[in-house]
Amino acid sequence: MTDLDGWRARVDRRIMRSLGMPLAKLERGLGARVWDDEGNEYLDFLAGIAVNSLGHAHPVFVDAVTTQAARLAHVSNYFMTEPALELAERITRLAGAGDEGRAWFGNSGAEANEAAFKLARLNNSGGARTRVLALVDAFHGRTMGSLALTGKPHMREAFEPLPGGVEHIDATIEALEASVDDGVAALFVEPIQGEAGVVELPDGFLVAARALTHKHGALLVVDEIQTGAGRTGDWFAFQHAGITPDAITVAKGIGGGFPIGGLVTFGHASSLYTKGQHGSTFGGNPLATAVANAVLGEIERAGLVENAALRGRQIRARVEELDSPLVAGARGRGLLIGIGLTEPVAGALVDEAIRAGLIVNAANDSTIRIAPPLIIDDADVDEFAERFTRALDAVAARM
Ligand code: PLP
Repeated sequence: MTDLDGWRARVDRRIMRSLGMPLAKLERGLGARVWDDEGNEYLDFLAGIAVNSLGHAHPVFVDAVTTQAARLAHVSNYFMTEPALELAERITRLAGAGDEGRAWFGNSGAEANEAAFKLARLNNSGGARTRVLALVDAFHGRTMGSLALTGKPHMREAFEPLPGGVEHIDATIEALEASVDDGVAALFVEPIQGEAGVVELPDGFLVAARALTHKHGALLVVDEIQTGAGRTGDWFAFQHAGITPDAITVAKGIGGGFPIGGLVTFGHASSLYTKGQHGSTFGGNPLATAVANAVLGEIERAGLVENAALRGRQIRARVEELDSPLVAGARGRGLLIGIGLTEPVAGALVDEAIRAGLIVNAANDSTIRIAPPLIIDDADVDEFAERFTRALDAVAARM
């Protein structure tokens, strides 16, 4: 039995079966690299699925965690701390939420979407608005409310009945026109469907969604949990479309590895929640919010939003140049990239990539998703191309 087999046997014995077997036993990281317990090095082009914005063990992250932990880690919702208020000011500014912008903080993406779902219920016009729209194939999380918004039947079925009123529509302008009316409380969209395989919305979709929801008094809620914090080459992906939503949800990359999620509201959506209607014990605590401030501050200071746009263009160009019959092309924006495959071999490719010292993810059978840290440079892009080619060649050789 190898060390990894022994590790997997322990996992198999004690960890809930909702999780699969670990690909490796990772022990430490630095920058865009991680190492397992045997000292093998991996180029981390997944970053905890779009989480480690600054890579691993970044001095800004480490300093923020240690300094704030030594000062004040947690209080309660009876107090407001400087890091939490500063994060609300920062994130409403980055989102362009203007004078009316407000923020609420929780601990995860699913929790952020729960807060947004409750916001939708508050936009009910005295009970006249009962419908909530989300998109087919959407992923919004695993809690009951966020699962109700998730448009993937295989994830939902075992847990029904889910909170009611949610309808899943196709991501087309025609479907929007046919569905948005005065009975709709909110429309939820991911600007790029990450879990579905890095699938972009059709041209003009967000503009049409904004116009229709505005006309009918429905909230437009943009789930920026995977796309936010600079990953797509703008602070938030909705900004590429030049629209202003009513709310966005954030998590993942804003904490750079520290758990945090949040709801940011714009305009009249900022006045829907009233005292006592929502809360979370840990949400917005000074430790999590201090870390998020430091992470977002470093993304801003170091020009990492621009770097994400540049490196994304480089990687997509390199993928298009790959001389492999398995690669169909690249899609996505900035550093959220889907590599389409000509055969359903994404799982095998992930395993071969691990052998080649590269961490990527199979978003579905025929899509590899990459979401590297925003700090990557020329050498990392070269190394990715080299290791990914080795993995592709290994899979092709077995076919
Ligand atoms: N929304 C989107 C778009 C996501 O990608 C995810 C996670 O992958 C979630 C929501 C759920 O976030 P969390 O896993 O932090 O609950």
